[in-house]
Amino acid sequence: MTSQTTHHHTPLPNFHSTQRGRIHSIETCGAVDGPGIRYVIFTQGCLLRCQYCHNPDTRDPTSGQEVTVDELIDDIKTYRSYLTYSGGGVTISGGEPLLQPEFVREIFRRCRELDIHTALDTSGFPDFEASKPVLDYVDLVLLDIKSFDPAIYHQVTSVAIEPTLHFARHLSATQHPTWIRFVLVPGLTDDLANVEGLAQFISTLKNVEKVEVLPFHQMGEYKWKELGFTYQLSHTNPPTPTQVSTVKTIFRQHGLNIDD
Ligand code: SF4
Repeated sequence: MTSQTTHHHTPLPNFHSTQRGRIHSIETCGAVDGPGIRYVIFTQGCLLRCQYCHNPDTRDPTSGQEVTVDELIDDIKTYRSYLTYSGGGVTISGGEPLLQPEFVREIFRRCRELDIHTALDTSGFPDFEASKPVLDYVDLVLLDIKSFDPAIYHQVTSVAIEPTLHFARHLSATQHPTWIRFVLVPGLTDDLANVEGLAQFISTLKNVEKVEVLPFHQMGEYKWKELGFTYQLSHTNPPTPTQVSTVKTIFRQHGLNIDD
């Protein structure tokens, strides 16, 4: 979702039989999308158009591969002890998982039955009422808030921020453990008033365990070219360590927990 990891077309297990949802790829030993070692399912389809997206090939909801929940769960079971031993679990990312709420809810429900930790990586943008039932089986939400200033948010994503803020407030009201993720892009999201506003907003939430500041990097650019899309950040450099530390300090000053 934040897509600061580039997923390649890793060979998928031999899925077959009836179809239930569309995925882009899976990663069986993810280490960045939640605690421990994660089995990460990247779903197909996204409504946002983030300028820094590393996986623009997840946009098209009709692309990717159709799989059934049974097939995914059978595969997850083979990694179960390894996931559990590392304090990890299953993460569903994308693309945008909440565009396929029933499919995603059922995967999480089945993981719960197996006592496997579940994490949902989302922008919080899709239809709220359709998304809410998914949360019944989510242990941790990784919520990407890609900016706070509405104009900057729109510039980054091409969509409005309000659905995401509404989703964030709901997670707070229902006490869903949440990590907030923010990608720091020099010249795009690094405006200090924007960061300050985001930190202030997050500090009003009662469920946020930590904030992750993810430094922008360009690794997905080749995919944009392959798809014939115009990549606007070709000349943007990653933030310097000083820029990252300045932004982290702002979050800390609002009492938020943040990794070094
Ligand atoms: S929300 Fe969608 S467009 Fe934005 S980074 Fe994630 S997958 Fe890419």
